[in-house]
Amino acid sequence: MKNAVYPGSFDPITNGHYDIIMRSSNLFDNLIILISNNPAKKYLFNVEQRVYIAKELTKDLKNVKVMEHQGLLIDFLVENEIYYIIRGLRAVSDFEYEFEMALANRWMSERKVDTVFLMTDEKYFYLSSSLIKQISSLNGDVSGMVPDLVSKMLKEKYNQESQ
Ligand code: ADP
Repeated sequence: MKNAVYPGSFDPITNGHYDIIMRSSNLFDNLIILISNNPAKKYLFNVEQRVYIAKELTKDLKNVKVMEHQGLLIDFLVENEIYYIIRGLRAVSDFEYEFEMALANRWMSERKVDTVFLMTDEKYFYLSSSLIKQISSLNGDVSGMVPDLVSKMLKEKYNQESQ
């Protein structure tokens, strides 16, 4: 069985993330979407909301599971005996950070863990969670960039905040 983890903040999931989820769930027998919960980081959606979104979006994908994690990714991988990390690559700007992380994770796992990179679909080349948050916070329309559920939750979030 080939199992993989797709880790990230997913704050919130965009269509770019979703595309990587669909493609990697076809490549592996089992895929875990691992939502990071780093106490030092400020998220727009709390971990329960981010897990809820990911679960809703993948409820029809039988080989996809959603979990949350605090701490080092490598600890989760070793504990669960998973040897593949999925990451998406967009512009050149992603490369340096991803390169460093992939090497660090390989080194920390005594060369057991490999990172598999999927190139973004050209439609989502420019898409990031921060761009989505920026547009939504200014009342912009993000439909077409994020799943409908996310678009609805963003509207609710920013309406609440402006009240
Ligand atoms: P992190 O905080 O771990 O970078 P993100 O939620 O920003 O978490 O991203 C998780 C992964 O998804 C990263 O590998 C990132 O490069 C990838 N990703 C983000 N947006 C896109 C996109 N539009 N197309 C392809 N991959 C993407």
